[in-house]
Amino acid sequence: MEPVNDHSQLTKLFVDSLKDIYWAEKHLTKVLPKMKKKATSNELKNAIEEHLAQTEEHVARLEQVFEICGKKPQAKKCEAMEGLTKEGDSVLEETENGSMTRDAGIIMAAQKVEHYEIATYGTLVVFAKTLGMENAAEILVQTLREEKDTDEKLTGIAEGSINQSAQQEEGEETEDDETEEDTEEEESEVESDKEMEEKE
Ligand code: FE
Ligand code: FE
Repeated sequence: MEPVNDHSQLTKLFVDSLKDIYWAEKHLTKVLPKMKKKATSNELKNAIEEHLAQTEEHVARLEQVFEICGKKPQAKKCEAMEGLTKEGDSVLEETENGSMTRDAGIIMAAQKVEHYEIATYGTLVVFAKTLGMENAAEILVQTLREEKDTDEKLTGIAEGSINQSAQQEEGEETEDDETEEDTEEEESEVESDKEMEEKE
């Protein structure tokens, strides 16, 4: 095995990325209970509950990896995860309490989070191996596996019944009762899209 260069830029990038995902996992331990409360089907509630327990474990594993690196666990705000969970909040605002459409939306938001985690842990495992930190790689790969399993499980729940039921739910809003405010907002969105195109 090649000797590990503790001062390499890759080591620094690895540790910085650990701080980022450490913040994200801790953030999720606060967000998941809220999502569970907002979900309707027991299947989804249970899946979220189960993943909350795993997420707490993910936080603990990251602390082990920090230790392997000889660093104190430190969280650095992850803008991406904050954005993904904000998007999840807006799904809740846009869907009705007790609807399967909301459950379908929660699954969508949760899967976006899982994909972010899968990308992050996939990279961290490879970094750890490259840096010769086999122990760290083994720890991180366990989490990677759980994120992938959760993603697949969520797909299964969505395809099992939720999406089908959601499709049968009537929307309350028809085109006619769309408020003027909504329309204006939509128009300004279209305009800003045009502006963006012009800039390109
Ligand atoms: Fe996680
Ligand atoms: Fe996760």
